[in-house]
Amino acid sequence: MTTICLKPRKEESLKRFHPWVFSGAVARVVLDASHPSEAPEEGELVCVRSSAGEVLGVGHWQVGSIAVRILAFGVDKLPAGFWSERIRAAYKMREALGLITDPQFSTLNSQFSINNTFRLIHGEGDWLPGLIVDIYADTAVIQAHSVGMHRCREAIAEAVAANVPQVKNIYYKSDDTLPFKAQIEGERVGWLKAGDISSGEFWSIENGLQFRIDWLRGQKTGFFIDQRENRALVERYAAGKDVLNMFCYTGGFSLYALRGGARKVDSVDVSRKAIDLVNVNVAKNFPTATNHEAVVADAFEYLSAQKAQGRTYDLIILDPPAFAKHRDAVKNALRGYQRINAKAIEMIRPGGILFTFSCSQAVDKEAFRLAVFSAAAQTGRKVRILHQLHQPQDHPVNIFHPEGEYLKGLVLYVE
Ligand code: SAH
Repeated sequence: MTTICLKPRKEESLKRFHPWVFSGAVARVVLDASHPSEAPEEGELVCVRSSAGEVLGVGHWQVGSIAVRILAFGVDKLPAGFWSERIRAAYKMREALGLITDPQFSTLNSQFSINNTFRLIHGEGDWLPGLIVDIYADTAVIQAHSVGMHRCREAIAEAVAANVPQVKNIYYKSDDTLPFKAQIEGERVGWLKAGDISSGEFWSIENGLQFRIDWLRGQKTGFFIDQRENRALVERYAAGKDVLNMFCYTGGFSLYALRGGARKVDSVDVSRKAIDLVNVNVAKNFPTATNHEAVVADAFEYLSAQKAQGRTYDLIILDPPAFAKHRDAVKNALRGYQRINAKAIEMIRPGGILFTFSCSQAVDKEAFRLAVFSAAAQTGRKVRILHQLHQPQDHPVNIFHPEGEYLKGLVLYVE
């Protein structure tokens, strides 16, 4: 195996279990005599040692500012059964969190409404940097964010199939997430296991609500599992309210608002495909509902047009896509957050509520709060914070890797 030797003192963060080795920390690369090329290949397993020769761990080699992402600390090769052990530990944690309440697979009885939608592996948060695995009823969707994980996809799929009892199907979806320039062998999308896919239509249950999941054409792995707890909070506030779910995607928040007794729910998204799925999901869960409307529109245009007509709401949800995908886009993103939040606050009736989110990892909590503060100040309304929200427990933040925190939200009371 290739050995990566670090510069003096560069082992300290690894000893605290931070899983990244930056390229600037690497003193030299020692290849095996049998190595096929003159440099490590992107995605190959390497062993990392300190300047004194101490073994620090094994991980995947990457091209770019992060040179290695560590999979196992303190060892010079991956232990036998590595993937199974990690998948089992992650499953056990989700079970303990009460997220697997499908009576067929759970020891918990159904005092909780059924849930079979959860994130099984959340990258660094589950000690598997570069890997996402989401579970939708009997299907697992695997997503690689590194070439190393792409190379391991078959072994990962095998471990998921062997250790997650409900999984019959495994879909691999890494078309948008692998490094753009990387030389990659094998398909970036497709079935790795197709036990029961003849219906071609896949449904998953989140807290008792049914969602059609389209991982083939949908965003992320098909659904935004990270908003589960925040959706449940919307349900608590929805009774009797006129609700606008802006950036609704497949209608997650809308379904909870309807179940919570909203008077009327408007769902808006720029994607026609998303809006088609919102309608399918509403019809499935509330077949007789006449108080829901789904609209294909750009958020800024919709809010301006509605405001011009004097339209107001009791409860607005703003869950935009990441406005800043990179650090250098943060300034513009903050302006975007301020603009959209000001437009929403203006349309809230006195005593109404705004749920506002940012999923940009590059925009931290304080910066987001400042953008929302500026928006509130701009409108001249009195605004108080009721809740500060974040990603749910199946998207854990590794305390040694604070970079894993990305979702933040504020619930505001607007006078
Ligand atoms: N709230 C959703 C997830 C939102 S993801 C949920 O709970 O599932 C962000 C959504 O914003 C995507 O569906 C995307 O299609 C939509 N979007 C992106 N740009 C937009 C724009 N300018 N106007 C309206 N919707 C937009």
